[in-house]
Amino acid sequence: MKVVALTGGVGGVKLAHGLSQVLPPHTLTVIGNVGDDFEYYGLHISPDLDTVMYTLAGIVNPITGWGQNNETWQMKTMLQTYGEDVWFGLGDRDLATHILRTDWLRRGYRLTEITLHLAEQLQIPHTILPATDDRLRTMVQTVEYGLLPFQEYFVKHRWQPIVSDVSYDGAETAKVSPEVLEAIQQADLIIICPSNPILSIAPILAVQSMRELLMSRSVPTVLVSPLIGGKAIKGPTDKIMRELGYIPSTIGVVQFYEGLLDYLIIDVADASELKTVQELYPKLQILQTSTLMQTIDDRISLAQYVLACLENEEIR
Ligand code: GDP
Repeated sequence: MKVVALTGGVGGVKLAHGLSQVLPPHTLTVIGNVGDDFEYYGLHISPDLDTVMYTLAGIVNPITGWGQNNETWQMKTMLQTYGEDVWFGLGDRDLATHILRTDWLRRGYRLTEITLHLAEQLQIPHTILPATDDRLRTMVQTVEYGLLPFQEYFVKHRWQPIVSDVSYDGAETAKVSPEVLEAIQQADLIIICPSNPILSIAPILAVQSMRELLMSRSVPTVLVSPLIGGKAIKGPTDKIMRELGYIPSTIGVVQFYEGLLDYLIIDVADASELKTVQELYPKLQILQTSTLMQTIDDRISLAQYVLACLENEEIR
């Protein structure tokens, strides 16, 4: 059985991690968002790919959910000594990833090749792929500061500005890589992890022909809702949905993914919405369980629950 999981960073990766623990080696491909990528002090940083890589390698900082465990910050402190306003968390160990990635990109390797190599060196028994090798950048139009590159909105301004539009710069020419194409074509199950739909999954879906490719497969596509009780566990999912005119609830999330989903897994806290969503989307199979992943066991249980969707499909 081959599984493809689409994810952003710290939220979605919890489920990807659970899947990586229960699926046999080399049966899971995690397709990561690159809309968050940016250049900082000349380094190419891929925050979401790094979060996925560090989590699946077991070296992520368990408190923040991003960055590395046992990190030190000497380089950042030195930059500050030079008077720099270092608003992005560049840890010393993390820096090694950015230096290598940047060097190899300059030498002409594709982001996919680099990501595969780094993950292999970290002995991750599954596959991590960037959504595209081409340049794609999430841009956030804000009321207070105008157009901001994603990291300035998210990290520098701590996602507080009011958002009036989100665009994906480069999406009109960004192509699906041969590796992503093959993974999706071979998948028996496609999972959309509980990530921010607008900031994490939309940049993946914005890659040319990605949506069509996903929809062309007759295998089940499952979404685990990123909202619990209509609210994000962390980050701006419900805030940004509201600001962009989506209902910040299960209904809004399903509306966002319209046409892509066969299964929807919602938290028991959102059970009151089930009937309305089912009436609006009669073909959608809606399941409810606890989707809060506080522990590794929670991640594993939810992963097993999601994978059971495939068994259902085989029975039908
Ligand atoms: P980012 O790229 O680091 O911002 O993270 P993601 O986009 O991958 O994830 C953000 C989303 O994850 C938010 O909508 C959170 O509500 C959701 N999230 C975080 N933890 C959990 C959890 O345990 N269960 C569920 N269902 N959603 C979660």
